[in-house]
Amino acid sequence: MSFQADVVTLFPELFPGPLGASVIGRGLSEGLWSLRATQLRDFATDRHRTVDDTPAGGGAGMVLKPDVLAAAIDAVSPAGDERPRLLMSPRGTPLTQARAEQLATGPGAVIVCGRFEGVDQRVIEARQLEEISIGDYVLAGGEIAAMVVLEAVVRLIPGVLGAAESHQEESFGDGLLEYPHYTRPQVFEGRDIPPVLVSGDHKRIARWRREAAETLTRARRPDLLKR
Ligand code: SAH
Repeated sequence: MSFQADVVTLFPELFPGPLGASVIGRGLSEGLWSLRATQLRDFATDRHRTVDDTPAGGGAGMVLKPDVLAAAIDAVSPAGDERPRLLMSPRGTPLTQARAEQLATGPGAVIVCGRFEGVDQRVIEARQLEEISIGDYVLAGGEIAAMVVLEAVVRLIPGVLGAAESHQEESFGDGLLEYPHYTRPQVFEGRDIPPVLVSGDHKRIARWRREAAETLTRARRPDLLKR
């Protein structure tokens, strides 16, 4: 069974968007994963197809209504659906490569995209939504965040990237940032490729890469070394 992604959004026309391009898009057309974007507004019950309302307690903005959102979630993910239900949220657990790997080995994901001020807290609890953040900044909506999650996950599905692709060597795969890359020409604007990389000595190359990865990680992301 391939990875099945469901996205609940007020802007289904944004999908697949960038997820339709390159290897991720090829994986989609080859059936290595599937994507369905569902219009939240279709689950509104009033004449005006209302999806949001003013915040209880006052304040700026609008909040997505729990009843409409719950109906949409129940429609795309009926009882017995084993897929995790994610809510894109700046308050969520930061997305990590480890979580992406877990999701990639699972049956798929149901992803809810917030808009306006966000969603009513009660639907988060009632539908056990796992809040996921893509970083410490605020977007206007969850759609691009959902694409980030899906792109990070789908590229890990076997067959989506080249066959022998090793994810272990990438940034975060072993808890480190990746070493720097070089390719021809041998000299670019007076800068050489580090000689060890053209030495053919695979042991020395591996050691150089390991050391470069550690130096980079220590300088830029010491928090990764502590984890
Ligand atoms: N009032 C909220 C921000 C709402 S932004 C707050 O201060 O926390 C509107 C929607 O964009 C959110 O519901 C969420 O779905 C999405 N969003 C914004 N920033 C995000 C982030 N860093 N990660 C994931 N989703 C985000």
